[in-house]
Amino acid sequence: MHQDFEHIVIGAGISGLGMAHRAVKRGVSTLVLEGEDRVGGCMNSRTFPGCGDFWIEAGSHTCFNSYGHLLDTLRDLELLERLTAKRKLSYQLWHDNERRSIVSSLHPWDLIRSLPRLFTGTKAGKGVAEFFGAGLGRRNYRDLFGPAFRAVVCQEVDDFPADLLFRRKPRRKEIMRSFTFPGGLSDVPQAIACREALEVRTGQRASRVVREGDGYQVLTAAGDLFKSRYLSLAVPPDAAAVLLPEELEELRDLVGGIGIAAIETLVVCVPAAALKHLPALAGLIAVDDAFYSMVSRDYLPDRRYRGFAFHFRPRVLDADAQMDCICRVLGVAPERIAGLCRVSNRLPALRAGHPDLVRKVDALLADGRLAVTGNWFFGVSIEDCLTRSHQECERLFPG
Ligand SMILES: Cc1cc2nc3c(=O)[nH]c(=O)nc-3n(C[C@H](O)[C@H](O)[C@H](O)COP(=O)(O)OP(=O)(O)OC[C@H]3O[C@@H](n4cnc5c(N)ncnc54)[C@H](O)[C@@H]3O)c2cc1C
Repeated sequence: MHQDFEHIVIGAGISGLGMAHRAVKRGVSTLVLEGEDRVGGCMNSRTFPGCGDFWIEAGSHTCFNSYGHLLDTLRDLELLERLTAKRKLSYQLWHDNERRSIVSSLHPWDLIRSLPRLFTGTKAGKGVAEFFGAGLGRRNYRDLFGPAFRAVVCQEVDDFPADLLFRRKPRRKEIMRSFTFPGGLSDVPQAIACREALEVRTGQRASRVVREGDGYQVLTAAGDLFKSRYLSLAVPPDAAAVLLPEELEELRDLVGGIGIAAIETLVVCVPAAALKHLPALAGLIAVDDAFYSMVSRDYLPDRRYRGFAFHFRPRVLDADAQMDCICRVLGVAPERIAGLCRVSNRLPALRAGHPDLVRKVDALLADGRLAVTGNWFFGVSIEDCLTRSHQECERLFPG
């Protein structure tokens, strides 16, 4: 099959769909190729057989009014009126097999002594442990903030770049502070993919990209061949390293050197009646346990069910032991679990000094017709992805 397009995007996560949405707005006909049978990547709201329309987020769960590029996209898609407020709930700690309050692990004097360094120190080039350990107090970092930051990025965090953990973004005060959608965050990628001007093909895993004259050839695992004048890679760094054309050897090496953190996510749906003993909570931050965090769906209460996503460290517990752990944490018998799904999440394992690597990547992307976007440029949040896609779209299709 030969098919020619002006622009092909590989990967239909929010980075790829954000890129495609912008390109189409500029009048560039665009095809998106996605390897899985659904769009959204880490934006993954799951339902369960027999549990009606009740959904739980297996990946990202919250968007904020500081997500300016996302809000612009939602405006284009007429989705702003569907923003759904999240009930304000607190996280708790899971420590030594019990739930504890956040303040129970705070060392106030350490905090007071260290805090000036948080505001005077520079983050550039430093890992999270070095910067926040100094600015919040070593004991606070060990007992509270380290586990909390690990929960945010679902991976070991000590050497994660301090400047990419939380990027300050201006808030849009007229919009609710944090939000989701009636069908969960998957409503967003699905709405972009449904745009009439955009063609999205799922179940099309790209296996090779070859430069051909001024454009690109994309071969898929199914043996299909697509051609385009412009190409955007919007896949995790290990996949991008494989797909980058062979002659971009230095770029392939740089991108291939970025690590990947695997997360074994288990999502469970439990009848609300079986959990009367468990107060509504935003989630749990695990301290030295087999899981990084548990994120609950209590922010959008449902009469019938409650939902929880447990994000486990890879290869620590087998499937049965993970279920035992979940039942112990929730205080529920295994037979009360009404729905269950396992998801392999993956996030880039960024390291201190990563912005220097990004600068090198950008210098090597001198070829004006190839864009690379994803959650490994400005940070891993949805807005970081869209910021990169916006920047790359400007470069490829200026004006
Ligand atoms: C558990 C978890 C919780 C999170 N919580 C939040 C949150 O609350 N708020 C927030 O802002 N962010 C959150 N994030 C981060 C955010 O969701 C992700 O960083 C972001 O969605 C990544 O989007 P992406 O498009 O860059 O990558 P992905 O979502 O990974 O998408 C990449 C896509 O490329 C496809 N692909 C890969 N290889 C190929 C190939 N060869 N051919 C075709 N397709 C291919 C994949 O199937 C996938 O669909 C969370 C992430 C996780 C894992």
